[in-house]
Amino acid sequence: MSKHKGHLFILSAPSGSGKTTLEQQLLRKDKRLARSISMTTRGKRSGERDARDYFFVTRKQFEARRKQGGFLECAHVLNDWYGTPKAKVDQALRRGKDVILSIDVQGARLIRRSGYPNVSIFVRAPSLTELRKRLTRRGTESATQIARRLKLAKRELRAKGAYDYVVVNDRLPKALAKIRKIIQVHRKQ
Ligand code: 5GP
Repeated sequence: MSKHKGHLFILSAPSGSGKTTLEQQLLRKDKRLARSISMTTRGKRSGERDARDYFFVTRKQFEARRKQGGFLECAHVLNDWYGTPKAKVDQALRRGKDVILSIDVQGARLIRRSGYPNVSIFVRAPSLTELRKRLTRRGTESATQIARRLKLAKRELRAKGAYDYVVVNDRLPKALAKIRKIIQVHRKQ
C-alpha cells in the first residue's frame, strides 16, 4: 500500500442523489482522476453498456472472483452483488492516478476497516422528498423499486457520520466545486 502514489476517493450516495452525473463531470475535467468500474450481478438498465457502466456478470462469475480475493470490497445491495476489482485500482494508484470509487455505505465501511488509505465523501440530496422526485423523474425503476431505494436511502443516511465529508447536492455546480476542492486539498497533502 505504501507504494501507492495516488489517492483513493470514495463517493457514496443514496440512489438518485446525482452521484453518476457528479462522477461523470468530475472525470471529464480532471485527467488525473480514474474511475473504477465495478462488477455487478444486477441486470443492465436501458442505456447501460458492459465494461463502461459496470462489468455485468452472473452470480457464479461474481462468486468465483470473490473467492480468488479479486475484490477490494464487495457488498450485497438491494438483492444484487457489487464489487470493486482490486488489481485495477492498485495498478492505477501505483501509477499515480487518483481513483474514484462510487460504492455504497457497506463497501465504504469495509475499505475503512481494512486500513486501505482513502478519503470518503457522502453525497446526499437536500431531502428525501427531493430524492423521491428525482427517482421518479429518472423513470428507470418501478414504483416498488423506488420504494425500496428510498427505504435504503434512509438507512444509508444514518451512515454519513462515518465519512470524511458530507456534500449536499442541491445545485450540481456547487456540489461539484465542493468535491473538486476536497480532491485538491488532499492532493497537496
Ligand atoms: P445502482 O444499481 O443504482 O447502479 O447501484 C446501487 C448501489 O450500489 C449504489 O449505491 C452504488 O454506489 C453501489 N455500488 C456500485 N458499485 C459498487 C461496488 O463496487 N461496491 C459497492 N459496495 N457498492 C457499489
